[in-house]
Amino acid sequence: MTDLLIVGAGPAGMSAAIEAVKYGIHPIVVDNRPEPGGNIYAFLGSNKRKHPERIKIFGPDYAKGGALIDAFLTSVEEGRITYHSSARLWRIDPDGGYAFDGPDGSRAGKAEQIILATGAQERPMPLPGWTLPGVMGVGAAQILMKSGGELPAGDIVIVGAGPLPLLLADQLAKAGRPVKAMIEPAGASRLLNAAPHILQAAAAPKTALKGTLLLAKRILRRTSVWRNAKNIEIVGADTAAGVRFMRGKTAELDAACVLIHDGIIPNLNPLRAAGLELEYSEQQKTWHVQSSDVIHVAGDGAGILGVDAAIISGRTAAKRVCRADPVNSDEKAYKKQRSFRQFIDATYPPVQTAGKAKSDTVLCRCEMIRAGAVEAAIDTLGADPNAIKRALRIGMGPCQGRLCNHSLADYSGTKLNCSAKEVGLPRARNPVLPVSFETLAELEE
Ligand SMILES: Cc1cc2nc3c(=O)[nH]c(=O)nc-3n(C[C@H](O)[C@H](O)[C@H](O)COP(=O)(O)OP(=O)(O)OC[C@H]3O[C@@H](n4cnc5c(N)ncnc54)[C@H](O)[C@@H]3O)c2cc1C
Repeated sequence: MTDLLIVGAGPAGMSAAIEAVKYGIHPIVVDNRPEPGGNIYAFLGSNKRKHPERIKIFGPDYAKGGALIDAFLTSVEEGRITYHSSARLWRIDPDGGYAFDGPDGSRAGKAEQIILATGAQERPMPLPGWTLPGVMGVGAAQILMKSGGELPAGDIVIVGAGPLPLLLADQLAKAGRPVKAMIEPAGASRLLNAAPHILQAAAAPKTALKGTLLLAKRILRRTSVWRNAKNIEIVGADTAAGVRFMRGKTAELDAACVLIHDGIIPNLNPLRAAGLELEYSEQQKTWHVQSSDVIHVAGDGAGILGVDAAIISGRTAAKRVCRADPVNSDEKAYKKQRSFRQFIDATYPPVQTAGKAKSDTVLCRCEMIRAGAVEAAIDTLGADPNAIKRALRIGMGPCQGRLCNHSLADYSGTKLNCSAKEVGLPRARNPVLPVSFETLAELEE
């Protein structure tokens, strides 16, 4: 029996592990990346050692993660934390059962307590042409830059709005590859929606100031910004060649690389396989998850609140596991981050392009299921997402519905004139990630 298993070595998972050590617990930490850091601090350790020039590109907020990573790795070296890098949790049961595979082989067991700090992912943004080579998520492009220094080739256009596109545009400019244009599906009217929340921006003044600076830098760089763009499609025969959209009349911009973004959502698959209770957040248009007595959720997995909140919630989850009282200052700081997030969510509400997908737009990339096929299935089977999944194999490919479950709910909601919340998600099952027969055989032995 393992006392404490922590899944994810991002800010939340690392801070949970460090806190647990303080209470005399020796946690096991599993993360599918080769080094700790999660998304925001991805590959910070190796970049510091081998590519210090990249630290300048990603800025002081990236460099800041060094202290947390060092503290985590020091505890690993001292034998207080067991850390399995490049190890993927592929099974999780509500009673604490788990299995993961990695370079040291496969392991299965049962943990008394589990902290799932499995973070976030980008919300899928199905658009005509989004499966063409040359199109990828804004976050995916950033991870490629952080992991291998890869920079997109040719003209770059970003489709979408939010803090991450603004940040990436700045980082690309610093790397010598400024984006040619940013196309935003929402109009300036979204600022009116955000107006009632303006005071909440003051809850995190430094973050608000950083956002304002990024906007100012975009103006100084004279990046062309197209707001209120409708009917967006990515054009190209075998690879992305440009973006076409309506703004009164049809406009088209050439681009070899199109980066798409519709905000981030919790990485729901492991949380759902763990049987945790879901709650739909109208504010973030996604599902949030409640911890159970055995499985605690920390960081972005519990709802998107950003890195500072992730660190606090990791620490708080460890305290809960160790039956220690939460700290007042942590509770206050967490509340502030939550308040600030309401401002961000109101400023950049998700566009949910899946809801308006045209019939030939692909919703499930793994199985190449188009919106038209889903519409036909809804006509015969109704709104039941499990029946649609069984009929079409939507969500049964290698990503196990990581991307298309959300799109299926958004699309069905629009077709049935109800919300994604009412449609719900298809049942989540183990394995959370594809698993080889070799892995299963190893466990049998
Ligand atoms: C692609 C992307 C890029 C981002 N970049 C920035 C940025 O530059 N600046 C910023 O302020 N915010 C950024 N964010 C938001 C940022 O992720 C959060 O603010 C913060 O990092 C959340 O921390 P976390 O510990 O909850 O999760 P994460 O940092 O996401 O860490 C979760 C970890 O769990 C691992 N994991 C997930 N599933 C499994 C599994 N089944 N088995 C094993 N390991 C698993 C992941 O690989 C990851 O290492 C980004 C988000 C995304 C999705």
